[in-house]
Amino acid sequence: MFSPSKIKKDFPIFTDSNLVYLDNAATSQKPQAVLDAVDSLYKEANANVHRALYSLGSEATERFENSRKKVANFINANSKEIIFTSGTTESINLLARSLGNTLKSGDEILISEMEHHSNIVPWQLAAKRTGATLRYLSIKKTGELDLSEPEKYFTKKTKIVSLTHMSNVLGTINPIKGLAKLAHNVGAIFIVDGAQGASHLPVNMKELDCDFYAFSGHKMLGPTGIGVLWGKTKLLEEMEPFMGGGEMINTVSMESSTWNDIPYKFEAGTPNFAQAVGLGAAIDYLENIGMEAIELHEKTLLNYALNKMNHMDGIRIHGSAKDRGGVISFNVDGIHPHDLAQFLNEDNIAIRVGHHCAQPLLKTLGESATARLSFYIYNDENDVDKFCDSLKTIMGYF
Ligand code: PMP
Repeated sequence: MFSPSKIKKDFPIFTDSNLVYLDNAATSQKPQAVLDAVDSLYKEANANVHRALYSLGSEATERFENSRKKVANFINANSKEIIFTSGTTESINLLARSLGNTLKSGDEILISEMEHHSNIVPWQLAAKRTGATLRYLSIKKTGELDLSEPEKYFTKKTKIVSLTHMSNVLGTINPIKGLAKLAHNVGAIFIVDGAQGASHLPVNMKELDCDFYAFSGHKMLGPTGIGVLWGKTKLLEEMEPFMGGGEMINTVSMESSTWNDIPYKFEAGTPNFAQAVGLGAAIDYLENIGMEAIELHEKTLLNYALNKMNHMDGIRIHGSAKDRGGVISFNVDGIHPHDLAQFLNEDNIAIRVGHHCAQPLLKTLGESATARLSFYIYNDENDVDKFCDSLKTIMGYF
């Protein structure tokens, strides 16, 4: 097993600081190797990619395309199926536009009550544009999807199913392979919101059997502004582009245009190539530790924290899924989550409070806001102890 305290030394933000960072579901911190990769691109190889016929341009393109290969290897996919986007949000919007436009009145889009707004709102917009109906799989008290009557939700009308791999509020890990089967049995396209998946779990596109998988670089040690949409070749080739502009075309006349091959058909304009190179360095860093080891570390830390928090009176923890990643949402009797975050901040402990961009889920939980801890590779039991000690002190004030 790796050592979080050693890992912390690779992250400049933790240098000479007693910061306890427990908001990793929102974004992760960056190791020096990622900062160096971005810095080096700008200092040594900055030229626009896929255009320049001089050495600097070739170097930039090589580093950019090399990152695409790293992403493809990381999720066991083909490079041409890796579309660089700005993040999960853009990836899902791309699908909701491109696939969404093939929907018609009477068709159904199936999502769930535990989705992030970025996997709800794009589908609401698609439904509004096309007359399709948006349906929600409900969740059980445990915070798991209620799959007791799948035939009610997965029907001949279901054209698109889009579900999260792991809930950013409850930590619930959804049974993706089984859900893929349910979707494919009715001929629907199955999309996975992997914002909390690829960053914390080993993911293998050949095994998961989804049709599309979306994730964000900034949640997995990479820079902001870079994300990924993976899709099956056949589906990507059939889809219309999302945005028009440079690089995504084959020919342009005054009247019309033809499209470039995938993935470039979906990458209009200058891509965030420096950030993509940073994501490649982040993947190297994660692979060096190993995603299996990361998953195990976070689950161990989750159980350690749950055990401590369950022994404290007045804390309500939301969800108790059997398969669960390193996320804990909770409320403390008599203390508003916002007050809690401010008091914890006095001890340099960073947690997220609010609706976590999942208002429908918060409604189901019967809360307007919760407090949330979320772990990553640099967190350890020491962080959890400091958090619990601070929490106990705060609870004593009220
Ligand atoms: N889906 C989930 C489950 C998330 O946790 C997040 C980020 N909190 C997103 C989608 C959106 O990711 P981004 O803001 O990086 O586009």
